[in-house]
Amino acid sequence: MSEPTIYIISAPSGCGKGTLISKLNERYKIYNSISCTTRRPRSGEMNGVDYYFITPETYNRMVEEDGFFEHAGFDRNAYGTPRKPIEDALNDGMDVLLEIEPNGAFQVKEKKPDSVMIFILPPSLESLERRLRRRAEQSGESEDQIQSRIKTAIPDIKRAYEYDYVMVNGDLDKAVSDLYDIVTKAKNGGEGLEAFTKDSMKKTIDEVLENA
Ligand code: 5GP
Repeated sequence: MSEPTIYIISAPSGCGKGTLISKLNERYKIYNSISCTTRRPRSGEMNGVDYYFITPETYNRMVEEDGFFEHAGFDRNAYGTPRKPIEDALNDGMDVLLEIEPNGAFQVKEKKPDSVMIFILPPSLESLERRLRRRAEQSGESEDQIQSRIKTAIPDIKRAYEYDYVMVNGDLDKAVSDLYDIVTKAKNGGEGLEAFTKDSMKKTIDEVLENA
């Protein structure tokens, strides 16, 4: 049996990675890390399910006590992966999935170089903005927050050039099958994943960033 692997998935918010990951979960048994964040819950989000919603004081205490596997500030809020559940899952032989932004992703890669980094691109910046606006209608996010998300998305997408694998979330069925392929093949040497390497995907990343 191969060693338990950490899969790190990054994507700009509004890219639809939540849906993709829940579809992956239907096909692949993996421990899904639940992050801590100091941001306020959006409508429909549940404490202990989507995130642990914590105060800045609790966050700072966890940083001091080395309670995070990685942590980073993002878009005016703080986020972190609680350390113990990850270490327990790996010790139990389970693969682990972290859905985190690039600064945290590279912290994990440095600590655990065998981790597999996957970046999910939107088909275009215009489609990302449309999704963010749709979500804001449901969640009550302000225009200011939408603009801030769009602004953060561009430097995030530029980091895609450094990820092990890059894929596009356009057609959902195709994206689910691509993500499944990456997750199942990457830990066995990556054979069959040539189309998703950062070198193969360079032109696609360039195209997404064309009007940035
Ligand atoms: P959102 O506020 O839209 O849920 O997430 C904003 C960003 O924070 C996303 O890119 C998401 O992947 C990232 N994020 C969520 N949890 C964590 C975490 O524990 N650590 C880090 N570094 N980023 C996280």
